[in-house]
Amino acid sequence: MGLIIRSSTIHAAGCYTTAPIAKGTRVVEYTGPLIDKDEADVRYEGRPITYLFGIGDGTRVIDGHGTAMFINHSCDANCETEEIDEHVWITAIRDIAAGEELCYDYCLYDGDEENAPCNCGAQACRGSMFSPEELQQRERLARKAAGKRLSVKTKKKSHRKKQSKEAQAQQKPAGKFGKTLVKAKKKPASTSRQNKTAGGKKKQVIERPAGKSQKKIQA
Ligand SMILES: [Zn+2]
Repeated sequence: MGLIIRSSTIHAAGCYTTAPIAKGTRVVEYTGPLIDKDEADVRYEGRPITYLFGIGDGTRVIDGHGTAMFINHSCDANCETEEIDEHVWITAIRDIAAGEELCYDYCLYDGDEENAPCNCGAQACRGSMFSPEELQQRERLARKAAGKRLSVKTKKKSHRKKQSKEAQAQQKPAGKFGKTLVKAKKKPASTSRQNKTAGGKKKQVIERPAGKSQKKIQA
């Protein structure tokens, strides 16, 4: 099957198939060096665009370098990702016609970014490339922080200190400073994740916030 990279209405460049692809086909591997997430955080700190894909427990990521890193996110995707023995594959979840753009759900997590707006245009677009779990978690933290701030005002002094500290802690988005955004494999709703990437066991990390450094990386 032929895959080509060309401009996309979803984002910058996208990956298109020149031939029909049958549901269930492993289309392309997400290739690139496997590095520690910590190393990626250092390497890409402050960079709005990265192509990291978390594998295993999320402590290691694939630093995308190849065709698959151009595949865009969609909330109503025609592909999904599979992790097999530390390799990540993009697999068709429905029949795909020649000429269609390939896309899968990035399920972003673990970044310092405040948001990761989605432009997929799907009817069911959730408005963000963050995973539903990540969005819930962020909402929870925001609510908690707001609630604590309110209650702090009505508490006695001794409590006040403690609670405002907690509130401060809660205000921080998941993760610490200097984190790079990571793509994760879509997982069944209901898994809760602890801090950073530790929760699920099959996270893919792909990062690719809006921008256009794809060319840069490729060149
Ligand atoms: Zn969307």
